[in-house]
Amino acid sequence: MRISFGLPLSLLPLAFAVACASEPAAPKPAAAPLPMADLPNVSAEAILADIGRLASDEFEGRAPGSKGETLTVQYLSDQFAKAGLEPGNPDGTWVQKVPLVGLTPAPTSLEIQKDGVKKSFKPITDFVAFSKHVVGEVKLENSELVFAGYGVQAPEYNWDDFKGLDVKGKTLIVLVNDPPVPDPQNARELDAKTFGGKAMTYYGRWTYKYEKAAELGAAAVLIVHEAYSAGYPWAVVQGNAAERFNLAAPDKNLGRSKVEGWLTMEAATELLKMAGQDYQKLKALAATKAFQPVPLGMTASLGLKQAMRTVDSQNVIGKLPGADPSLTNEYVIYTAHWDHFGHCAVLDGDDICNGALDNASGTAMMLEIARKMKAIQPAPKRSILFLSVTAEEQGLLGSEYYAAYPLYPLDKTLGVVNIDGINQWGKTSDLVVVGLGASDLDDYAAAAAKEQNRTLKPDAEPEKGFYYRSDHFNFAKKGVPAFDPGGGVDYIGKPADYSQKKRDEYTNNDYHKPSDQIKADWDLSGAVDDAKLFLAIGYRVAQAEKYPQWETGNEFRSIREAALAKRK
Ligand SMILES: [Zn+2]
Repeated sequence: MRISFGLPLSLLPLAFAVACASEPAAPKPAAAPLPMADLPNVSAEAILADIGRLASDEFEGRAPGSKGETLTVQYLSDQFAKAGLEPGNPDGTWVQKVPLVGLTPAPTSLEIQKDGVKKSFKPITDFVAFSKHVVGEVKLENSELVFAGYGVQAPEYNWDDFKGLDVKGKTLIVLVNDPPVPDPQNARELDAKTFGGKAMTYYGRWTYKYEKAAELGAAAVLIVHEAYSAGYPWAVVQGNAAERFNLAAPDKNLGRSKVEGWLTMEAATELLKMAGQDYQKLKALAATKAFQPVPLGMTASLGLKQAMRTVDSQNVIGKLPGADPSLTNEYVIYTAHWDHFGHCAVLDGDDICNGALDNASGTAMMLEIARKMKAIQPAPKRSILFLSVTAEEQGLLGSEYYAAYPLYPLDKTLGVVNIDGINQWGKTSDLVVVGLGASDLDDYAAAAAKEQNRTLKPDAEPEKGFYYRSDHFNFAKKGVPAFDPGGGVDYIGKPADYSQKKRDEYTNNDYHKPSDQIKADWDLSGAVDDAKLFLAIGYRVAQAEKYPQWETGNEFRSIREAALAKRK
């Protein structure tokens, strides 16, 4: 789970939520056969009981590959079976094996050479380097350096930072976030039509930059870290120097660039100066469409040894087969990650990171939705998959694995609802949707919310790109519309700052710590409303005439269109 949202009520763009609720676009949820009132109610006691088990010390914090994993997988399989689901893997089991490999990098210094003059930069202090290659050692030798702006190719904005330059075998220096293109009418504002204005698009995420560099055959890519635009301090980047888990892909990830990493802004400024370039000037140029990549006339060399270990983990999956024979081979997916950090840094004599909220709570809510989905009459026409994924905390790996090796075709998967953390502080009159307005799934949510006399709200900090930071995102990347709800922020009968206060308490005291446990003051009455809303979305999508689609201008729309066109 990532920490997100929480904006004072007065600052929220309410008009947006209202517009969304009152103008449902096609496909029309109005065609849904059942009103919310006729759907089964969700049980707070059942959710709490499942959280209690999953977050108990016996489960040891549910680390991938641990005894906690064995217990968790067994528990989830048992609960799915009790709910009346079928084993979700077509091989007749409840699991999908997810091979992981832990890599601990030990880089030497980064050597830059220009005209026989050498300069070296220090690991951890000046840069952080790692590799996805599943090998004991990678070597970057005299690789030509290129400054490639934001490292973005975005056809929908007619934007290309590479302009046809061959970067095979080269080392790219790129900027963090997406290009801050000024509004042509008002230069102090960002152009809302290009890269989402203030909101971050996927082009701004570091994972995108590494993926693009690999696609173009670059040997290495270093992102310049600026705390403000990255949204996190250098200390967080330094965390990458510890063991990192990756999927143990059959190609040993050799399709990726050899070296991925970060440079501090100071180191980047110095490096560019060696090439006779000015960092700030290049940065200004990079925010324009006309930007041309800049070969720096220098080379980079770096050795990187890695310690390796493999861990076999598992996604757990249950299936409710669709009742309509002509639609049973089409799917709606619920995702919730079951994993957490296991034994972690000691706090008050306790070293078990129980992850009650993160994400025993979301997993428990998904179990309860499965039970209630099974009880709905008429039964859903399409099949519903309940997918509890592993290694979210290690970089969304279980969901990445499913999206890469789907058990059912993604072009027949209509949509994904992700549950990562639930509201534990009572009823709200609203529901935050991260990336609100991304797809038609929001119309289903708005219609269901309206029946509960609630409204939808966007997340408060779209510039931080939270949409790209939980499991649904791996489906979005493959074009499958994906819904990423938070809890609400407007607590009924509570002061306006209540949500912010409770969230801050959690972030500061409990997030990723042994104290993330069930608390005496938990009140799941609001979570129960949310769960019923999620139940309605999945059920109605399973009954709908049409597939949900991404909104026009969304970065995943063309991927989906291409996937669906290829299918026919
Ligand atoms: Zn987390």
